[in-house]
Amino acid sequence: LRLLTIESTCDETAAAVVTDGLETLGAVVASQTDLHERFGGVVPEIASRAHVERILPVVDEALRQAGLTLADLDAIAVANRPGLVGSLLVGVAAAKALCVATGLPLIAVNHLQAHVYACKIASGEEVFPCVGLIVSGGHTNLYRCDGPTDFTPLGGTIDDAAGEAFDKVGAMLGLPFPGGPAVSKAAAQGDRNAIRFPRPLLDDSGRLAFSFSGLKTAVRYRIESPDAERDTPLSEAERNDIAAGFEEAVVDCLVGKSELALRQAGFDTLCVGGGVAANGRLRERLGESAEKHGYRLYIPPMSLCTDNAVMGAIAVERFRAGKFESLDLDVHPGLERIG
Ligand code: ATP
Ligand code: MG
Ligand code: FE
Repeated sequence: LRLLTIESTCDETAAAVVTDGLETLGAVVASQTDLHERFGGVVPEIASRAHVERILPVVDEALRQAGLTLADLDAIAVANRPGLVGSLLVGVAAAKALCVATGLPLIAVNHLQAHVYACKIASGEEVFPCVGLIVSGGHTNLYRCDGPTDFTPLGGTIDDAAGEAFDKVGAMLGLPFPGGPAVSKAAAQGDRNAIRFPRPLLDDSGRLAFSFSGLKTAVRYRIESPDAERDTPLSEAERNDIAAGFEEAVVDCLVGKSELALRQAGFDTLCVGGGVAANGRLRERLGESAEKHGYRLYIPPMSLCTDNAVMGAIAVERFRAGKFESLDLDVHPGLERIG
């Protein structure tokens, strides 16, 4: 089987050609970071317009890499939930148009399930059942994953997503957009024990929830604090210590609640997905935690953590189950329908 997969849920326009053996024959990601940079965040209207311009060239390039044409495919899959409504609509419209043109069947992909499935693709191992931790610019959620498309929400953030907090803190520290990679780079130069920021809800034992909005504010107070006796801009050393202290606080929360979710679900496997899973300190700390508590940990390589179409290979599962969509397939921006 060969499938074309399309991903346009947020600000990456991506397409891939994958096989039922979860092999990648072609994969393209057109990032829009440059378009959103000066706004300090993703602007939905700009994102959907950029998807319109890029989607067909991205599909063409994925097919070219695979050395295939549309006639060689068995199905077309597209992420139709959750995400920005305008962005989702572009990918879904493109997939439907290609299905009409070719007569190929259409398969719907849940973007969050795809993030967890990336662990199976990357490792080549059976990862289910597992606890899924999805940490990105738009999500910080924990799921009980009984199977690739059988998810039950366990908890999540009550305000900002972790990636969003990284991005805002990056902006406060005068670092380039997106803040995640820049904060983590600055943090590597800093002392993570120099400043202790709050770990919101971490001690609220039994509750699988995150909150990063107050932590963000604590960072702002620290930058503006009078006891820093500053009338000059932050020194590089101060900035690095703030970045390191902030990163450690976020990582503590993510690791602590993942351990709790594993205990509550009674599972011994943790799968991590989303852009923040690219964070080196998070990977390191989860590795230590997995060793200490004896669970299996799966974190895909960077290219499969941030938004991509290769993880859309989860559509193979639906293909096998005969779960195809009609051409009136809709988009679902919200999280209300995870299954
Ligand atoms: P969605 O939430 O819908 O999946 P998204 O575009 O926000 O969409 P991703 O592309 O998966 O999600 O991830 C981007 C986020 O990951 C950004 O917030 C970015 O700052 C963060 N990020 C990327 N690399 C790192 C890193 N090394 N450390 C911390 N955060 C990072
Ligand atoms: Mg993105
Ligand atoms: Fe994502």
